[in-house]
Amino acid sequence: MAGPLVMKFGGTSVGTPEAMAQAARLVRQAYEAGRRPVVVTSALSGVTDLLLNTARIAAQGRTEHIPPARQEIQARHRAIVDALLPQGRQDPVWFLIQHRLDRFTQLAEAMAVLGEATPRGLDAVAALGERMSAPLLARVLEVQGVPAVSVDAAEIIVTDDHFQNAVPDMQATRQRVQAHLQPLVEEGRVPVVTGFLAATPEGVTTTLGRGGSDYSASILAASLEAEEVWIWTDVNGVMTADPRLVPEATTVPVLSYREVAELAYFGAKVLHPRTIRPVIEAGIPLRVRNTFDPEGPDTLIVARRDAVAGRVMALTVIQHLAMVIVEGRGMLGVPGVAARTFAAVAGTGTSVLMISQASSEQSICFVVPKSTTGDVIPALEATFARELDRRDIDRIWAMEPVAIVTAVGEGMRQTPGVAGRIFGALGAAGINIIAIAQGASEVALSMVVAQEDVVPALRALHPLTQEVP
Ligand code: ADP
Ligand code: ASP
Ligand code: MG
Repeated sequence: MAGPLVMKFGGTSVGTPEAMAQAARLVRQAYEAGRRPVVVTSALSGVTDLLLNTARIAAQGRTEHIPPARQEIQARHRAIVDALLPQGRQDPVWFLIQHRLDRFTQLAEAMAVLGEATPRGLDAVAALGERMSAPLLARVLEVQGVPAVSVDAAEIIVTDDHFQNAVPDMQATRQRVQAHLQPLVEEGRVPVVTGFLAATPEGVTTTLGRGGSDYSASILAASLEAEEVWIWTDVNGVMTADPRLVPEATTVPVLSYREVAELAYFGAKVLHPRTIRPVIEAGIPLRVRNTFDPEGPDTLIVARRDAVAGRVMALTVIQHLAMVIVEGRGMLGVPGVAARTFAAVAGTGTSVLMISQASSEQSICFVVPKSTTGDVIPALEATFARELDRRDIDRIWAMEPVAIVTAVGEGMRQTPGVAGRIFGALGAAGINIIAIAQGASEVALSMVVAQEDVVPALRALHPLTQEVP
């Protein structure tokens, strides 16, 4: 018998009564077609942000935001309960949601008393979003005649205790999945699993990082030996660029694992970066589909793909960055300057997005989020105090705001001329490239441009994704 079909719904796909009704319809169709769905759901769109922001503010002693946040989250769920459940607020799931909201108030108030929001506490708060949406979706399915059952991922996905970014223990998870989830599927039930959250072996709630429901889907699919994974979202698959920035973007029908990994790393939020590894390793096909246009074009992600030489498949961008520059005529003589630079940056807890060496070896440039320069520059000045004094290093400064625009495509590897076409298109549009970096994988070429050039750069490059060179 074919394996189960994992169907994951993102926040916008369950965020309103209409969206949740549509998500339920898609599950029902799959079920009626005999496909054995296992559903994974995100929290209603915006709920995770609201939970976390309210908790963080509460930890600063400001509790006045707790009641309105609670009210808003309650109203969002109530709209769905009222529209889709015949018993409305008499339904047991409504009492469960109230219970979760009480828990939110308690946790946020406790953080206010303690004056701190620990990563562990924040995970307990963040997980509440999925702990409301999954039981609600399960109930909506049930009243439509689908034998759905709500499952809390804390029972089946085992992780380490790296709160807010926990790493799954695939072996332990597989055992739990086979013990608790597989039997439900075999009985013909439709599990609806909370995305995003998991638990340590001791049962303490963790989360897989923001956007982590994709990861949940992929972990479960690998553990269940699923037939396929469908990631349901609010766009027609992975597009040639973020459609919010480039309205003429089109769907990319097939992408390789490496291409998606580069796109995710360089900002295309459509898939969580770590997400797809488990499914690709297990050889399970993954599709990204539009909940609101299920018959429309979608993207299939495969382990390997025949590359069209020179083809740029998609563009992506990370905005609001700063390029930090350490420069000086005496830098060549300074021992271990690169190592000391990056050690100092790492010491501030900042992750470097891209490193680039300018044409002369008299500077080191790297890109970090703009919000971190207040920590990074003083740390570098302290590290290089002596060199600055001696004028071996003249200046440590940041060029901001900048952005990284990245072109991705398997066919860009070892194909002469691709970089020329990319730079030519930007040059023709009068856009200045501040720095360039090519990843080791060679399927991505990244350029730093001024923040104000982001949209013009994407529009100048976008035609390259539409042409076969
Ligand atoms: P979900 O809540 O369904 O997980 P996300 O917001 O995480 O959805 O991801 C989908 C969003 O990703 C889209 O609405 C789109 O704006 C954005 N996005 C960014 N880059 C791309 C791209 N290249 N292709 C498709 N969507 C993209
Ligand atoms: N709800 C979580 C978040 O907003 C997980 C997800 O949506 O994938 O990050
Ligand atoms: Mg997402």
